[in-house]
Amino acid sequence: MPNSLVEETKRIVAQFDYSDDDVNKGVREFLRQMNEGLQKDGTSISQIPTYVTGVPNGTEKGLYMAVDLGGTNFRVCSVHLNGDTTFNLTYSKVAIPKELMVAKTSKELFGFLAKQIEFFLKTHHEEHFEAHVRRRRSSKTAEGYEDENLFQLGFTFSFPVQQFGINKGSLIRWTKGFDIPDAVGKDVCALLQDEIDLLHLPVKVAALVNDTVGTLMARSYTSPGKTATLIGAIFGTGTNGAYVEKITNLQKSVDGVYDKSTGEMVINTEWGSFDNQLNVLPKTQFDATLDRESVNPGIQIFEKRVSGMFLGEIVRLAVVSLYENANVSLFKGVTSNTNGEQSTTHIGDDSGLFQQWGLDSSLMSVAVADDTPELSSLRQELDSQLKIRSASVEDAQAFKNIAHAVGRRAARLSAVALGSIVIQSGRLKETSDDLVDIGADGSLVEHYPFFRDMIYEALKAIEGIGPEGAERIRIGLATDGSGVGAALIALVAAGME
Ligand code: ADP
Repeated sequence: MPNSLVEETKRIVAQFDYSDDDVNKGVREFLRQMNEGLQKDGTSISQIPTYVTGVPNGTEKGLYMAVDLGGTNFRVCSVHLNGDTTFNLTYSKVAIPKELMVAKTSKELFGFLAKQIEFFLKTHHEEHFEAHVRRRRSSKTAEGYEDENLFQLGFTFSFPVQQFGINKGSLIRWTKGFDIPDAVGKDVCALLQDEIDLLHLPVKVAALVNDTVGTLMARSYTSPGKTATLIGAIFGTGTNGAYVEKITNLQKSVDGVYDKSTGEMVINTEWGSFDNQLNVLPKTQFDATLDRESVNPGIQIFEKRVSGMFLGEIVRLAVVSLYENANVSLFKGVTSNTNGEQSTTHIGDDSGLFQQWGLDSSLMSVAVADDTPELSSLRQELDSQLKIRSASVEDAQAFKNIAHAVGRRAARLSAVALGSIVIQSGRLKETSDDLVDIGADGSLVEHYPFFRDMIYEALKAIEGIGPEGAERIRIGLATDGSGVGAALIALVAAGME
């Protein structure tokens, strides 16, 4: 690398350093903000009660249903829990027609969803369905009759809702391109149940499910050694986590009915908005630009430094600043290929490098994973994904160093959230050798090289955890929160009746 490129890259990389000291400052502030969220509403970390008052231990049994309205697709599945930490899943997926996302009435969308459930039942559970129809015909009154063939269903609904019971929650606003005004403020479980009832389906919407809670439940059911899981965490497009809290710590008022006998409740932290006021979070010029130019400045500040949707954009802004630095030659030099032919690096006019959100975080994984001396796969991807033709090894190395720095900072920030919750739970102190189990889901933990290792490295540095504590923390993948997890919440809900 020409000297100035090396030096200037180092200068940028250094801005993403997040020292052990910073991690500990972050933990102290995270603990303060999470406890504030347990006391009152309207705080940075919302700490939303979920009405789920226990996690599974792998012995749960039965047949349940789950549906997931996420954004692009509607998933319907049935889950057979075998009671030995294993399960069988039957699954179908349908794209949501664009016109229904902006339908005139919520009935059109929810009617469509109920139809998909009917189709799924007829395809995969014909006997169950027929038995229900027979019973229904023979029953004198439809009202209040018990049906052992009734499916309990968990409804994963990934839009902002105000929950006021395990199967009650009103839609605060639509996101992700949906816009059906009459649904806002209504109970989404009731909207779905009404349409299910119109089709006389043997299905009860038993639980409204947040995807992090589903992740926690799915992990707890499948966790090796039947260790009860403490946290469900998502590091994908966005980031969020749910964990098991003692009810005595939950001091703000909780409307609605729930089972107090376990002494615990799962809390959906909404940690993406940790430290929106920027008391302790790092703030490079690139973070500031990203936030200023985002659709929601000042909001989801933690998420904007941690999750897949934003990391690529931070890298892009940092790389562009190097490119525009007059003292540096990045993507401008002459390179030689293996045959000794020379070519000049150039960037296609439509390159994502110069467009907001033009660099997908998955390119960071390619960069970090490429250990070849020539960085050949990275250079190939710079060409195919960003139209950067004939980048030199030096250019690619600068890109890789920046990607690594941004990814490492994200992992260390993730450790702040996870480590704080482990400390809050007191579980490391309760026993001297039990594992503290964490279920994680999302492309970053699944695909970004060494993401979990970098989290562990930071956990070791946290006062109150240390290397010994970190060894007792187990972060495992839990990839089917909206299927198995939602089914398990339906099971918990059915038990509460
Ligand atoms: P979701 O959170 O929407 O369920 P994912 O967990 O797959 O979905 O996360 C998608 C996000 O992860 C996108 O922002 C994408 O840019 C990013 N992403 C996908 N693959 C990778 C990868 N290999 N490395 C880093 N980020 C990735």
